[in-house]
Amino acid sequence: MRRLPGKVDAFLVTRMPNVRYLSGFTGSSGFLLVTPGERLFVTDSRYALQAREQVDPAFTVLVEKRAPEQAVRALARRRGVRSLGVESSISYEFYRSLEKSGIALRACKGVVEKLRMRKDEEEMRHIREAVRRAEAAFEELLPHVRPGAVERALALRLEDHLRLHGSRRVPFDAIVASGPNSAKPHWAPGSRKLAPGDLVVIDWGGEADGYCSDMTRTVLLRGKDTAPKEELYRLVLDANRRGIAAVKAEERASRIDKEARDVIKNAGYAEFFGHALGHGVGLEVHELPRISGRSRRRVREGMVFTVEPGVYVPGLGGVRIEDMVLVGRDGREVLTSLPVELRIL
Ligand code: ZN
Ligand code: ZN
Repeated sequence: MRRLPGKVDAFLVTRMPNVRYLSGFTGSSGFLLVTPGERLFVTDSRYALQAREQVDPAFTVLVEKRAPEQAVRALARRRGVRSLGVESSISYEFYRSLEKSGIALRACKGVVEKLRMRKDEEEMRHIREAVRRAEAAFEELLPHVRPGAVERALALRLEDHLRLHGSRRVPFDAIVASGPNSAKPHWAPGSRKLAPGDLVVIDWGGEADGYCSDMTRTVLLRGKDTAPKEELYRLVLDANRRGIAAVKAEERASRIDKEARDVIKNAGYAEFFGHALGHGVGLEVHELPRISGRSRRRVREGMVFTVEPGVYVPGLGGVRIEDMVLVGRDGREVLTSLPVELRIL
């Protein structure tokens, strides 16, 4: 952080993905206190060694015995901090306890999250690896996607493969939504067995060095009367391609959303596409920028986000096709490389 947000004497960073982004610390407890002349990283004794190894040397590492709110109060007082910027995500309890100390607080929204939108080369290496791991896991899952397979068992197998490929955690529970369940955009996989003619929406992500990937493929199981489902797939694929083609530096996020949404709207399916077109992906699986009709942001070079149109028709089923894109100077790079043509298994 080169500048402190607003007119404050110091800024307190408490949200862990932001602490990690600014300092390099990957543990689960610690905060940053940044003043114009000093950067402090504060943690407790459990993380003393890890912090000394990981934290950027631009920060002074302090190991505290006191509770975080007491430590912040004391550190701020000693430095004559009268106004303190805090992240708007801070817990109410933490906020109240700082307030009692008489320091003027200013809640700032998304300060570090905005910095995180544009990825540097090292971040891109991790994101690419997170994509690679997720894609390898998916290819290994595909032979098991067949009639009789249980949604939940497929989701577990996919998550197993992700870990075997090196992901330390799965960024979110994998979604396997088959047949009627495919019409529910965020279905939690259950005991349903896949049946011939099912659309199967599979939404999952990998992880590498703390960075995430997020993608969705929809497959079709061979069966009778699948023509309307194939047609639905072609429609969503068209929207996905149009959305991706609209991605370029300085384009409005709302415009990218509109390009894809119009394809679905013109086919008469607008009411079945209820979610935003996409979201940023990085240290968190859902982060800025939001690619939606309500966004007022323009996308910039180096941003990474998903393009994931979906159409969910009760009684017929749903299709979602989600790719990750990196905004380039004049265009975009699609980071996901799995084929998008309909796979009929
Ligand atoms: Zn997504
Ligand atoms: Zn997803």
